[in-house]
Amino acid sequence: MSGVPGRAHRKLDTRKDFDRLNPKSRNHQALHVITREQHTISRKNISKAALRVLYRLNEAGYDAYLVGGAVRDLLLGGHPKDFDVATNATPDEVKKLFRNCRLIGRRFRLAHVVYGNEIIEVATFRGTSEEQSEGDRHIVDGRIVRDNVWGSIEEDALRRDFRVNAMYYDISDFSVRDYVGGMQDLHDRVLRLIGDPQTRYHEDPVRMLRAARLAAKLDFRIDSSASAPFAELGPLLSGVAPARLFDESLKMFLTGHGLKSFRMLEQCGLLKFMFPATARALKRGDKALRALIEHGLENTDARVAEGKSVTPAFLFAVLLWGEVRDLAHTWTTQGKDDNDAWSRAAVHVVAEQCQRVAIPRRFTITMEEIWSLQPRFEQIQRKKVFRLLAHPRFRAAFDFLLLRAAESPAIGELGQWWAHAQQLPHETLAAALPLHHGAPAGDLDTARAGATRKRKRRRKPTAGKSGAG
Ligand code: ATP
Ligand code: MG
Repeated sequence: MSGVPGRAHRKLDTRKDFDRLNPKSRNHQALHVITREQHTISRKNISKAALRVLYRLNEAGYDAYLVGGAVRDLLLGGHPKDFDVATNATPDEVKKLFRNCRLIGRRFRLAHVVYGNEIIEVATFRGTSEEQSEGDRHIVDGRIVRDNVWGSIEEDALRRDFRVNAMYYDISDFSVRDYVGGMQDLHDRVLRLIGDPQTRYHEDPVRMLRAARLAAKLDFRIDSSASAPFAELGPLLSGVAPARLFDESLKMFLTGHGLKSFRMLEQCGLLKFMFPATARALKRGDKALRALIEHGLENTDARVAEGKSVTPAFLFAVLLWGEVRDLAHTWTTQGKDDNDAWSRAAVHVVAEQCQRVAIPRRFTITMEEIWSLQPRFEQIQRKKVFRLLAHPRFRAAFDFLLLRAAESPAIGELGQWWAHAQQLPHETLAAALPLHHGAPAGDLDTARAGATRKRKRRRKPTAGKSGAG
């Protein structure tokens, strides 16, 4: 019937299994079934693709549930972006039912059913017992490194992270099945871990980050027993694959609640395990850096809310800027060449960061460009200005310069100068710019009526350098 190692798919006596496997579980509660009339989930808010998967499984005689974040978000009145399905059909059985299905993952075997650009993740119920020797579950030093032992729905509920994430929407009668008290937590707006926090974080330290991220996203508090181990167990995050932390950081910062996630990470004391350089720079009390980061995250959240695209490169450039800038300054004051100091600082900070969060090369290249263009904004000479304006990364670097306004009034005015310069016709701007360092030139302010006095004052100190006045 199944391709499951050592174990056939069970149509089971689940309650008995559950009791046997979890005799003293703290979360062992009676199943609470919330009927169609007692909850607010409507099929119109479930994606067509997810409904098709659920119905097809059900018609083939399997149990089929919507599960996890989608159920949680639907109950909260939100619109989930991803829909996960849980079933007692094994991955191979799922594959037989859907032509548009591929099996993925070795560590955690899953079926992906694909409709256009929507993917419905279909997972077979997982078992919970560590003692189980049959099947394909491996635990190394308390950490789950492989989890392919099939189980009952009750067991599946218990291996999920938070109680609010362990509710099942049953397509056969539209009820919600709550095995661990998730409804109560939704009502109380709290994230409680299922089981013993120490064990659950050892099994998978990313659950700590998920606590912070979900608390930010849902505006929930984290139950004290779930947050108490953060300080002690946070260092376990250094053992998590950096590629996984990259994925997690995108969910934190690029899905519309970046600023809240950032604050929550900091408040939970977890920032330093993910972004050590950022945490160090902020610990030095750098108010301007904090303003830059918060403003950068706020802008990103606003773009996401408007459905605009966002790039991880810009955001990581924002997060790591403080350390890059300070390192570059240290090295230039020690007599290193400017360009050299900036590029070495960038390489150094990126290398350290990538040991924690594996930022792909295509993004680190952009980050390094954004940083290394910053000192070039101060070089107001004709050729250099035009070269910078034509640079493929000018837009991102300029947006970054605007964020840096909090660093000093001079930077703020420099940002205004460049904003203004971009609006001028080529000839007008060329005439206003000196040919080379110290040479006389027209006045950019005269070139554009309505220039502010503030900017005139600003150009005095830079005039020696830029000659723009
Ligand atoms: P989001 O709104 O970000 O999608 P989510 O809770 O749906 O939040 P997913 O990563 O989509 O997060 O995971 C789906 C479900 O899988 C979760 O709700 C939870 O039940 C379970 N899950 C995910 N990650 C873990 C984990 N590390 N440990 C235990 N269960 C997990
Ligand atoms: Mg989800």
